[in-house]
Amino acid sequence: MDVFDKAQEIDAQFTRQAIEAALPPKAAGESAEICSWCDRVIPEKRREAMPGCQLCAECQEIKERLPGGR
Ligand SMILES: [Zn+2]
Repeated sequence: MDVFDKAQEIDAQFTRQAIEAALPPKAAGESAEICSWCDRVIPEKRREAMPGCQLCAECQEIKERLPGGR
């Protein structure tokens, strides 16, 4: 019954991935310590001033200039 076990395992993995994909990337209000664009450390002052920020000041500025960016 190895094939069946493997199928169940894969099924569980897909279910888990589907759940993770359905969840928001990160809860609002939780700031990232590392910029998700350039991998630089986001200063703590910035994280406190901007709850939920995921980018450093420089990347945030670039992002805001992009069309359709928030
Ligand atoms: Zn950055």
